[in-house]
Amino acid sequence: MARYTDAVCRMCRREGQKLYLKGDRCLTPKCAFERRGFAPGMHAKKAQFKRNQSEYSLQLREKQKVKRIYGVMERQFRRYFDHAVRAKGLTGANLLILLETRLDNVVYRLGLAQSRAQARQIVRHGHIIVNGRKTNVPSYLVKPNDVITVRPESRGREYFQLVGEFMGERPTPSWLSLNSEALTGRVLSRPTRQDIDLPVNEQLVVEFYSR
Ligand code: SF4
Repeated sequence: MARYTDAVCRMCRREGQKLYLKGDRCLTPKCAFERRGFAPGMHAKKAQFKRNQSEYSLQLREKQKVKRIYGVMERQFRRYFDHAVRAKGLTGANLLILLETRLDNVVYRLGLAQSRAQARQIVRHGHIIVNGRKTNVPSYLVKPNDVITVRPESRGREYFQLVGEFMGERPTPSWLSLNSEALTGRVLSRPTRQDIDLPVNEQLVVEFYSR
């Protein structure tokens, strides 16, 4: 499966804001955006002050930002968009809700990982069980009443022994419930747009694909 392998912090610098892709490090002075808060590339710093952003450029940047936050590549993102168009309701909200219900995002939201990238790795390595079945597909879409837990064989690992220390650091969204002692979460309902606390304008993404 294709995945992004370049320097992660470049994506925050490119989008002009912190996307919190690296967990704890994003909150320290080591954050690359804190140190170099301009776009990457030789002439980007100069261009940033010169250029008036076109409508197309604003739409493109917003689309890239959403993709990068959830760690999804273009083809898969486009599939989510097509799915969102066909679903009832607002396309932009549908798109975010689909992305939010990905298993890797849910593992991150439950606090079992410090970033979505780390959550994806935890899922891929087979440490997660959904409704009693090992599920190693990060794009699996959770549904209400799904129970997500850490596989019993993985609980003894040093990582999961220590995960409790940072599990409660981020608030659990209202559509999920968490039992941190049992390393288990439950999906209470489908998230709504209001439950998704991301600084994105999904309407621009819709406009990008509707050109
Ligand atoms: Fe972005 Fe985090 Fe890197 Fe800072 S440390 S630039 S917030 S990924």
